[in-house]
Amino acid sequence: MNKGRLFVISGPSGVGKGTIVKKILETEHPVELSVSATTRAPREGEEEGRDYFFVTNEEFEERIANKGFLEYAHVHEHYYGTPKVPVEKALSEGKDIILEIDVQGAMQVKESFDNGVYIFILPPSIDVLRDRIMGRGTETEHSLEVRLGKALEEIRYTGKYDYSVVNDDLEKATEDVIGIMRAEHFRILDAEEIIGKYEEETK
Ligand code: 5GP
Repeated sequence: MNKGRLFVISGPSGVGKGTIVKKILETEHPVELSVSATTRAPREGEEEGRDYFFVTNEEFEERIANKGFLEYAHVHEHYYGTPKVPVEKALSEGKDIILEIDVQGAMQVKESFDNGVYIFILPPSIDVLRDRIMGRGTETEHSLEVRLGKALEEIRYTGKYDYSVVNDDLEKATEDVIGIMRAEHFRILDAEEIIGKYEEETK
């Protein structure tokens, strides 16, 4: 049976993980994206329900109390969380799903999921990362400092992930992540189930 796999993608702000995920969704590779809830304000061009569910602090805290999140974290002075139901639904329907979340959230998911696949996207260097964040032009000086300060802290979590992909070239990094996702479908998760199928035939 083809079971849905959960892919967690993390990496410092500005590393391009959002763009990589968007490109994967544009390919034929069958995978869904988990849309997070956040209390931060929408950036220009962002759409409610596509990029995030934009909620108030009160709404977010109510949802925490109702156990509506698979994980949540306080990142860059705002709340971010993964709504539980869509993830469970996708996996139970045999669909793959990507969670693009920070390291704190990824560590929480690890505690509740045995077979998640954890991919860390790295910048070629911190200098390149700074240039990319500045080039995006959406950050104030304060938020740039907050994000850069957090980058190295996040990179130190690389050892907790299964794969690391350096985003030097966007096309290549996207192909690399898709390659990992494909390969994961060949992982032997339940050998007994496989063997049982062949044993059944010889009975
Ligand atoms: P941004 O504000 O740039 O969209 O995202 C800031 C950070 O929050 C990124 O590192 C992103 O991966 C992370 N993030 C987005 N959604 C979630 C979520 O649902 N949970 C957690 N833990 N982090 C998230």
